[in-house]
Amino acid sequence: MSALLPLEEALARVLAGAEPVADVQELPLLEALGRVLTRDIVSGIAVPGGDNSAMDGYALRAADAAHPLPVSQRIPAGSVGVQLQPGTAARIFTGAEIPPGADAVVMQENCVFENGVLSISGEVRCGQHIRPRGQDIDVGETVLSAGRVLRPQDLGLLASVGCARVAVYRPLRVAVLSTGDELREPGSGELRSGQLYNSNRYTLAGLLQSLNLEFIDGGIVADDPDATGGALLAAAQRADVVITSGGVSVGEEDHVKNQVERLGSLDLWKLAIKPGKPLAYGRIGDTPFIGLPGNPSSVFVTFCLVARPLLLKMQGVSERQPPGIRARAAFSVGKPGGRQDYLRVTLENTGSGIQARKFSNQSSGVLSSVSHSNALAIVPPGTVVAEGDEVEVLLLDLLTH
Ligand code: AMP
Ligand code: MG
Repeated sequence: MSALLPLEEALARVLAGAEPVADVQELPLLEALGRVLTRDIVSGIAVPGGDNSAMDGYALRAADAAHPLPVSQRIPAGSVGVQLQPGTAARIFTGAEIPPGADAVVMQENCVFENGVLSISGEVRCGQHIRPRGQDIDVGETVLSAGRVLRPQDLGLLASVGCARVAVYRPLRVAVLSTGDELREPGSGELRSGQLYNSNRYTLAGLLQSLNLEFIDGGIVADDPDATGGALLAAAQRADVVITSGGVSVGEEDHVKNQVERLGSLDLWKLAIKPGKPLAYGRIGDTPFIGLPGNPSSVFVTFCLVARPLLLKMQGVSERQPPGIRARAAFSVGKPGGRQDYLRVTLENTGSGIQARKFSNQSSGVLSSVSHSNALAIVPPGTVVAEGDEVEVLLLDLLTH
């Protein structure tokens, strides 16, 4: 039996040959959510553009605050004041620019305006309640870098520097083939004995859509060499990457391996992870190919750990590894394993920290273990875990975005 390949090694090999898609699109900001910047965005302006008030109140010289002050002008947000004469105050509203000559803002709750003069209670510091020019962004500052996946707040940040359109990569086209004679599509009638509904197609379509990648549906492929070869070739012609599920073991009904070898090149690995031992990587012609295992939980885990980083790299994304966090195991692992285990767990805030509760059945065929969990707890090979030990966990929400 060939040695088990550590995940890091498999990942390094998969990523080595991956290049970002070449095509660039110019999109209006409102259409750019989830898309990936192809170049740095540098601000041509300062934000805010001038010193402005953080409060509704009065702008004045801090040195004048002890005296009753006439109010000489009124500055709502969006209008510009005039030079403030010493010994006077300006009525000012949140976001309005500080008039020249003023060096502090007093919030209106600390002011009394009576008989035409303003009296101020409490101490007034120079600079208080003033948001300085460039507090958020400076002229010439890189606002967001190439490779950034645009989140809602990023769209806002780009708008704040006046950016109306962005250059992003076109979505990566990813073909998904589900291999297996036993598979039926939900909605295509009742199952005969020995059959099961194709769940991998839906898990993978969802994962791709969550990552803002284009899902190309290759449907179910029969366990037959010609059907497999034909489907792989057609998929490779339409897509930037081809992903299959099932058929990568070395059984007689597993044809993916031979067909990829015939059409391109293939590495077949036994990964040192659980779930998800068999994994194939190669090319069909020039098109990268990943053969995931068939078992539904393995599909999810190997997609997240191996396919996702490849796809994100090809999509031009710079941050591809979500940070792990630490949690206390609410379970134990008594027997050290030979592979790195990715246990499906639910994280709960117990008041005494974050606790990871293990799903009862960790079999690679049990997809409920993924659906009813929100994280993967990593148990390295050769380790035992006692209840209360710290373990590293990966949040599913970070892996699926
Ligand atoms: P295989 O690697 O093709 O032998 O598949 C391993 C296991 O995963 C078998 O029990 C298959 O029935 C199951 N399986 C394969 N493909 C799918 C799929 N698309 N949906 C659900 N289960 C699958
Ligand atoms: Mg099969």
